[in-house]
Amino acid sequence: MKYFVGVDIGATWIRIAVATEHGKIIDRIKGRTPQRGNPSILSSVIINLIRKMLIRNNIRRVESIGIGSIGPLDLTKGVITNPPNISMENIPISKPLYEEFNVPVYLVNDCTAGVLGEKIFGAGKNIDNLFYLTLSSGIGGGAIVDGKLLFGKDGNAPEIGHIVVDLKGKLKCGCGGYGHWEAYAGGKNIPKYAKLLIKEKFGICIFKKSKLYNMVKGDTDKITTEMIFSAAKENDELAKLIVDELGRINTIGVATIINVFDPELITIGGAIALNNPELILKPILENIRKYVINRIPKIEITPLGDDIVLYGALAIAMNPHYIPSKFRRFE
Ligand SMILES: [Zn+2]
Repeated sequence: MKYFVGVDIGATWIRIAVATEHGKIIDRIKGRTPQRGNPSILSSVIINLIRKMLIRNNIRRVESIGIGSIGPLDLTKGVITNPPNISMENIPISKPLYEEFNVPVYLVNDCTAGVLGEKIFGAGKNIDNLFYLTLSSGIGGGAIVDGKLLFGKDGNAPEIGHIVVDLKGKLKCGCGGYGHWEAYAGGKNIPKYAKLLIKEKFGICIFKKSKLYNMVKGDTDKITTEMIFSAAKENDELAKLIVDELGRINTIGVATIINVFDPELITIGGAIALNNPELILKPILENIRKYVINRIPKIEITPLGDDIVLYGALAIAMNPHYIPSKFRRFE
């Protein structure tokens, strides 16, 4: 039997699985992502977790290791360069794992892994044009176009969360740009957008009558993304209006994906979408027609749920030919 290891490096958790060559996950393990310290600590944590998992399953040898990671990445060096949510820079990943286990190590960004996971293990089997969109604390995507996994010159394509959805650019994105999709509808930024909407569009009167007002005792700075969605599910008028606005912006984003990539299937994952599938999907399906020129694809929540990047990492380990050779430096 041949075994493969997949690693999902998130901002909070590292999740690892070992699977057979048929993609059956035999065991999984997870650990907290170190937030600070010497950059080599991250690969040490991963190495220890992999060792522990292999030993308890009596697996002596694996064929390769695939990794889907938060970015930004330098794929030619196999490092995470300067992740926004972790206080470390130039974190080496591929080389230490390669030296420790003596097997090929393949690193790609999490959404790039995700879309390949969808193709190999999820809803995208036998589909050659598909897009995976994640609506999480940030917004990201991965694309397969004409059967090829899209990388771009540095391996960062497609940075879909950073398309401009507001010409006036009222909100600034974590990346420094103005008017980006993620600055409005990324989970981390939704509260800021809600505050702007209350101030400039819906007005303080509606706020005072809303469930949200009671939840935060009138302080708009205390509004959270979870509160907005849970109040909307309880039919709170203001929360529903905010969710409508998010829906409009998400629809513009998805329309851009359709117009640019012409996919047959778009799957959506990430905590915001997985926790609120109805509230996220419905406005997109209802309004997408207004914005697209290309034939409308199937749009659905990913069946792989929370595990999509982990499956993607395994898919990468098993199918490295999807990665351009210049990004396969540790094989
Ligand atoms: Zn941005």
